[in-house]
Amino acid sequence: MEHVTYEGLTFEPYISKQDIKTRVEVLGKEITRDCAGKMPLFVCVLNGAFPFASDLFRAVDDPDAEITFIRLKSYEGTSTSGTVKEVIGLHENIEGRTVIIVEDIVDTGNTIYRLVNDLKEKNPADIKVATLLFKPDALVRNIKPDYVGFEIPTKFIIGYGLDINEKARNLNDIYILKEA
Ligand code: IMP
Ligand code: MG
Repeated sequence: MEHVTYEGLTFEPYISKQDIKTRVEVLGKEITRDCAGKMPLFVCVLNGAFPFASDLFRAVDDPDAEITFIRLKSYEGTSTSGTVKEVIGLHENIEGRTVIIVEDIVDTGNTIYRLVNDLKEKNPADIKVATLLFKPDALVRNIKPDYVGFEIPTKFIIGYGLDINEKARNLNDIYILKEA
């Protein structure tokens, strides 16, 4: 694999599409086993999680599994609380259901923390978090994803859904920012 350039920055190959595929299939089997008989509802967080959700959902061997899509609308908070994110697009009734949130990456954990709390108010039976990537050293929230594709260092990465200013989501492999 060759390096790629976006916004004048150089990114090096980091996780190959074959390694992603192999790992996602393992996660799919784990979820299949853990959620048997629970009619799990996958909730894909757009935009970043769409390739992962597509592959993960198809790696789950369960005729009762369903998928839906949400977005997090960001707007700046008025106080020091920073960016507030509101869930939009969830039209399903999740009361009593097993929900599996599918995210591209958990960095500080702020986004997923807020999302889990918002969904809990709708009284699901259970909420699980599946994230392709997890930066444990960046975590500032008390939250632990249930299914993690890869734990990575606190560095900027792109590809397979992850963007730099909305670009690079269509890269098949994952790339990491090259140190200057
Ligand atoms: P958190 O709220 O800090 O956990 O960050 C979550 C969001 O930040 C993700 O959904 C991504 O959109 C973005 N993000 C965090 N790290 C990266 C990265 O390395 N590359 C691209 N986007 C990232
Ligand atoms: Mg995202």
